[in-house]
Amino acid sequence: MLKIAVSACLLGEPIRYDKTGQRDRFITDKLGKYASFIPFCPEHLAFGTPRETIRIVLEERHKNVITVFSKNDVTQAMNDAVAQELHKIQNEAICGIILKSKSPSCGLGSTKYYMKEMSEGKKDGLFAFTCKEHFVDFPIEEEARLIDPWLRENFVMQLFAYEDALQLQKNIKTMQELVSFHTAYKFLLQSKHEGNYRLLGKIVANHEKNSLQEITQMYLALFKKTIAYKGSIGKTVNVLQHMVGFFKKELNSSEKAELHMQIEEFRDEITPLISVMSTIEFLVKKYNTTYLLGQKFLNPYPKDLSLRSMIQEGK
Ligand code: SF4
Repeated sequence: MLKIAVSACLLGEPIRYDKTGQRDRFITDKLGKYASFIPFCPEHLAFGTPRETIRIVLEERHKNVITVFSKNDVTQAMNDAVAQELHKIQNEAICGIILKSKSPSCGLGSTKYYMKEMSEGKKDGLFAFTCKEHFVDFPIEEEARLIDPWLRENFVMQLFAYEDALQLQKNIKTMQELVSFHTAYKFLLQSKHEGNYRLLGKIVANHEKNSLQEITQMYLALFKKTIAYKGSIGKTVNVLQHMVGFFKKELNSSEKAELHMQIEEFRDEITPLISVMSTIEFLVKKYNTTYLLGQKFLNPYPKDLSLRSMIQEGK
């Protein structure tokens, strides 16, 4: 089960300034089947609920937190609450963070900043900024961006891969386990970053005869960086062609033609990825191509999240 830190209001908790929540059904109903949530709300911790709204006001590079109507400077209380909530989520084995957009605390690039009374553009909210500083190469998104099917697919893939990395880190006992992990992730890594995928292969080959602990540490650091890259139609097509190349000798001519056509239609954004993947999976099972059967790229997350069924999932 995944463990994800989430802005409490997105879970439906009536914790916003006006005592409302803003439940996000994708998070609670879809991801909720596979995840437990660690809720956080720095503003509730600092000021209780209901509360006066706040905004971030820039003054000579300092971020001051000011209440909108009474104009009180509440920066210290807010910074203390951010530190406490950060400490809370750092103590959990989380594999991702989902933040509420536009909030002065939680917005991820969508928080309005002010200088005097004038808007100064959009940046990260205070808690989002702190999370990004402390959780490097980590799955972090805000719910508004997850409406985009491409970002959602990439984020969920990253969440599940990150969780696998945490489990490996916790349980690994032999070099063979690292080799098997890398083997299963080969095509997925290739679909993210070809150069890093090759470097990861070199790390696993371990020509320098480093200890298992050193190798695992090196490998997982680059693995986490690699899965943070976004996929693209071009990179995905490349991987699909590699997969087909793997068992093309077994395929008859009509199967080859069908796969070729489906990959082209995916490239031209006529067919969603799920169609190609289903055909590949069907043929992989038909010809019992064991190496491909174990590839995470075929099933990076539970199928019922249905994240590869829209054309907009490719970019
Ligand atoms: S956006 Fe963040 S600070 Fe605001 S209510 Fe939701 S969890 Fe609390």
